[in-house]
Amino acid sequence: MPKFMADHMLGRTCRWMRIMGYDTQYPKCNSDNDILKKCMREDLVLLTRDYEFYKRYPKSVFLNSPDFKAQLKQITEMFPPDPDLFFTRCPECNAILRVVETKTMGEGFDLVKSRFETVKQCPECGKYYWEGSHYYRIRDEINELIKG
Ligand SMILES: [Zn+2]
Repeated sequence: MPKFMADHMLGRTCRWMRIMGYDTQYPKCNSDNDILKKCMREDLVLLTRDYEFYKRYPKSVFLNSPDFKAQLKQITEMFPPDPDLFFTRCPECNAILRVVETKTMGEGFDLVKSRFETVKQCPECGKYYWEGSHYYRIRDEINELIKG
């Protein structure tokens, strides 16, 4: 599976791709040249809605729709996702989540602690992820997307 770079306008698409396990970077800088240099250096597939930008880099994919779900559909058709990798990556920072015991969680997680022995945590931002209602809704949306 290649690694990806999402263009600026694709923040939402980028977060969903990470949830689906795609290694997807999001540009921290605003210069197209810097983004392209990074893509070349790290052999990334560039996802963009900007046709001029698309034409400048051979490994880029032009996303046809402004709608993030249609974009995800296009991406998953070109690069079928690995369901084993769903929910293994932080949607905010792209880092691989690690499994932690809930007893190590701080104050304010009583409900989570009462329901789970372990949760996932992002080593970068420290955010916790567990299989709550949000998780099931996202999982259903992903399944809808890849089967449809
Ligand atoms: Zn994170």
